[in-house]
Amino acid sequence: MKYIDLRSDTVTVPTDEMRAAMAAAEVGDDVYGEDPTVNQLESKAAALMGMEQGLFVTSGTMGNLLAILTTCQRGDEVIMGQYGHTFLHEVGGMSALGGIFANTLPNQKDGTLDLEMISQAVRGTDIHEPRTKMIIVENTQNQCGGLVISSGYMWELSALAKKKGLALHIDGARIFNAAVALGCPVDALTAMADSVTFCLSKGLCAPVGSVLCGSEDFITKARRLRKMLGGGMRQAGVLAAAGIVSLDKMTKRLEEDHARATRLADAISKIPGFSLSKGKPQTNMVFLEVAEDIFPNFDVLKERLEEERILIGFSGEREVRLVTHYWIHDEDVEHIIATWENLVD
Ligand SMILES: *Cc1c(COP(=O)(O)O)cnc(C)c1O
Repeated sequence: MKYIDLRSDTVTVPTDEMRAAMAAAEVGDDVYGEDPTVNQLESKAAALMGMEQGLFVTSGTMGNLLAILTTCQRGDEVIMGQYGHTFLHEVGGMSALGGIFANTLPNQKDGTLDLEMISQAVRGTDIHEPRTKMIIVENTQNQCGGLVISSGYMWELSALAKKKGLALHIDGARIFNAAVALGCPVDALTAMADSVTFCLSKGLCAPVGSVLCGSEDFITKARRLRKMLGGGMRQAGVLAAAGIVSLDKMTKRLEEDHARATRLADAISKIPGFSLSKGKPQTNMVFLEVAEDIFPNFDVLKERLEEERILIGFSGEREVRLVTHYWIHDEDVEHIIATWENLVD
């Protein structure tokens, strides 16, 4: 039985075109740098991001960790948002594996970090303090509602980072969603940074992988650390082939996911008991607050939807998250809305 799975865009399975490309992929040993398909993916990704080189990695988590380990020494500090994925959902890897310290700042309502607050957070030369080395921003900002961070803000942030001598890394797991929503080329959001990670395996439908991009020197160092973490994959072209289809084809259709998120948000927020907790969707995520008097028990909501083959995510005590993606079609959206309307009777 087919489920309409709104828990995340990570649930996307590869398209037929991807499976065909994977089967036909030319491969080699990528640890020797000899996999032509991986090399092609990496250079394509770097060109799109406005950076010198790319590195195919197993996951977004590995990409972000490598960016941090490449830039920082033990005892150094990284500034990031308190709702940042790196702070919340990357298993504290930077501390566990790198001995690197997180200095979290509040994300503003629009998902950004306040520039003045960053400026004040950067440490001086006092021997009591860790050294601040890096800033990480997330685009789209997942926990704030899948919000887009503008090119204008990114340029201001990069100017600040340069002034303070800090590296700027973008956790761009969904950077293509941001670019599509803003109607700009993706490098307008990334070229000013030192490095960026983006995910192939979310809305772009590839089965596995992310790409970390940066300067030649940075990627050379990151490649060594990737090997150290056990991320040196051999005939990975089988996976990279799907990633190439992601970049060539799947980035261009994200608008459809955004339109469906908007349709869901408009319809469900009109139903008593449900309101948009993080505003109107800007990309492919809808966050809804569930009124306690309507659904005192969350499990009932979950079960009622599951009976209708609909799976949803839970992002807070009274909050659900719906994520649209390639495998959610217009008829699914209408089925979700009709089911939701019948929940409250
Ligand atoms: C999913 C995600 C990641 C990590 O990606 P994985 O491939 O799941 O490790 C990083 N940052 C953000 C914002 C994400 O949504």
